[in-house]
Amino acid sequence: MRDQIVAGNWKMNNDQNETQTLLNALKSHSKPKNVRVMVAPSFTQLSQSVSLLGDDVITVAAQNVNAAASGAYTGEVSVSMLKGVGVETVILGHSERRSLYHENNASLANKVNTSIESGMEIVFCFGEQLEERKSNRHFDVVKEQLSEALFSLSAASWSQVVLAYEPVWAIGTGETASPDQAQEMHAFIRNLIQEKYTENLAQEVAILYGGSVKPGNAKEIFSMEDVDGGLIGGASLNADDFMAIVNAF
Ligand code: PEP
Repeated sequence: MRDQIVAGNWKMNNDQNETQTLLNALKSHSKPKNVRVMVAPSFTQLSQSVSLLGDDVITVAAQNVNAAASGAYTGEVSVSMLKGVGVETVILGHSERRSLYHENNASLANKVNTSIESGMEIVFCFGEQLEERKSNRHFDVVKEQLSEALFSLSAASWSQVVLAYEPVWAIGTGETASPDQAQEMHAFIRNLIQEKYTENLAQEVAILYGGSVKPGNAKEIFSMEDVDGGLIGGASLNADDFMAIVNAF
């Protein structure tokens, strides 16, 4: 049975006070036993979040990490710094990192390798732009993103990988992929992994969908066979909305 996961990507939102308010609200909700729940605050709020959550089932992820172990990288944060504050998961390859900070498949491969070698879990994001879908290139784009950044990993390393298919045209736009579009792409991804590795491995990897998931559409999307949960942006900033999504399986 694959993990079912709901992860909230807070992006550059929630200062110290807002983090405290949101996490206390999330803590007060009861959570289903069969769903892993994560939140990804800003770097400055990671330590606070880990200690505030204490032994709650919600875990804390970072939104980015540098590929180097240490050195002259002004403004950057390393894997050991994340681990030092109790963070064991990192989101990599979000479309905003790709478009605003010029991350690409090659630079992401370095981040993936460093993170995996250091024992981190990664939530690896990828997905096509609107023009790529319109011109029917979405499968090729996704195949390239996965092959170039992930397919040199050993089979054993995949126990540390969660995938997040996020069509760029659906992120923060209010427009979602239809459940059928999500299922079609997730099945395609699982098939790629099966071709490169094994059927067992392909069946074990959790593939999340991200892109305007809300309480009103989560159940339908999560009910698709190859959709194992969601990466949630906007709706993760509201405790009731986020917990409604967590409870939508
Ligand atoms: C995201 O940023 O990963 C995301 C899915 O955002 P939203 O849910 O707001 O579309």
